[in-house]
Amino acid sequence: MLYFLTYVLLPDSTVLHRLLERCRVSMDFRTATKTHARVVVLGFATYPSLVASLISTYAHFHQPHIVLHVFSNVLDLFNMNLVIESLMKGGQCDVVKKVFGKMPVRDVVTWNSMVGGYVKNRRFFCALSLFRKMLSTKVEPDGFTFASVVTACARLGALSNAKWVHGLMVEKRLELNYILSAALIDMYAKCGRIDVSRQIFEEVVRDHVSVWNAMISGLAIHGLVMDATEVFSRMELECVLPDSVTFVGILTACSHCGLVEEGRKYFDMMQNHFRIQPQLEHYGTMVDLLGRVGLMEEAYAVIKEMPMEPDVVIWRALLSACRIYRNKELGEVSIANISRLESGDFVLLSNMYCSLNNWDSAERVRQMMKVGGFRKRRGKSWIELGDCIHQFNAADQSHAEMKSIYRVLEGLTQRAKLEGFTPLMDLVLMDVSEEEKEENLTFHSEKLALAYGVLKTSPGTKIRISKNLRICLDCHNWIKIVSKILNREIIVRDRIRFHQFEGGVCSCKDYW
Ligand SMILES: [Zn+2]
Ligand SMILES: [Zn+2]
Repeated sequence: MLYFLTYVLLPDSTVLHRLLERCRVSMDFRTATKTHARVVVLGFATYPSLVASLISTYAHFHQPHIVLHVFSNVLDLFNMNLVIESLMKGGQCDVVKKVFGKMPVRDVVTWNSMVGGYVKNRRFFCALSLFRKMLSTKVEPDGFTFASVVTACARLGALSNAKWVHGLMVEKRLELNYILSAALIDMYAKCGRIDVSRQIFEEVVRDHVSVWNAMISGLAIHGLVMDATEVFSRMELECVLPDSVTFVGILTACSHCGLVEEGRKYFDMMQNHFRIQPQLEHYGTMVDLLGRVGLMEEAYAVIKEMPMEPDVVIWRALLSACRIYRNKELGEVSIANISRLESGDFVLLSNMYCSLNNWDSAERVRQMMKVGGFRKRRGKSWIELGDCIHQFNAADQSHAEMKSIYRVLEGLTQRAKLEGFTPLMDLVLMDVSEEEKEENLTFHSEKLALAYGVLKTSPGTKIRISKNLRICLDCHNWIKIVSKILNREIIVRDRIRFHQFEGGVCSCKDYW
């Protein structure tokens, strides 16, 4: 009744929005159409956010014709663009794609909403291919378009695409503002070319802190802690004040290299010299840093002293350290504090018990996972050849050249075995990876991507692979040996950092 009254008394757009949302949740198509009628009667039929809401609703009820009909009521481009933006904000990529296809005219704002929307919704491949389409139209991309496309290349770690996009920016004489400069530095760092990042950094105007932050975090993911601190000290000379993001970068760099003293120094400097209150991220990197080197009690003390509620990321950092340093008590404390457990947490806990030879507890965790219906995450890797990106899932069979790929893989594995490689198949190490354990570890996606790279490139060429999860110990060992057998540099960007494999060793020194 109360609900009905608000509807009658306050028939403004917010109420209508809420009504439509309820219809979606309760799958009430009738009320949805009634509300639609109400929207029309009240004169809101061309109101962009309501149109977006109606479109989402009808898409939800699988009514593509009504979707397009609703959209066709929006007469001018300005409002159509707002509808596109609203839909993208709501994560409705597929619906937006249909609507976009029906637009009679599109301007640079339309394209930017689309490309940028894809990036925000993590559809990086879609963003890139739509950008290519945009280039074939008369609409010129602007700084906003490039900022999105550069981000897409960075997230994919796709170097050829990155170079191509950068080349276009130069060709079109696009003026670099601090957003684009920072994006370019970040892109090359994430594509494994920290040298190019540095070069750009030296050439651009550096009066905005974002540019410095991009450089420092870039150096951090490459494990170049000394260079990161050097850049940091240059900030003072060039009169740029660091902000809280700068310190996340610098602390991450210290953490990746296990530099406890340095980390403590910066954590202290941030608060006492720059008067920046540490936030969750800063506490998180401190816990990670202390935990990685085995200072478990101190890491736990940091958590206890935090002025705010520690989040799940922080407890997970402690839990990871508990696995490595076999600290059962703190491991259980961490688990008890993670309110919404995900599969990765169970994996860490089960691994911790395994490393303590506590098989019963490990088995109990595995059962908990099964009962709770938790699944491990799907591993994905991709490799860029020419400007084409090839993606592989674990145990993938879908690629057109799968037979040849498996042949190369087989050959490499045999040669690796001759070099003394033993797959980690025993119980202790069964569960070390974040991703789904396949019947055979040979089929983790980075191995497939690497085999494809070997198949498609000439001897001696560097191979670059990106992966969505943390690389597992087995694949890490395997790639080390393959780099030696083939005498090739192999670069893998995983969720955590870059691994540069050469001559049988990795740049992370087996610490990741
Ligand atoms: Zn693996
Ligand atoms: Zn490594």
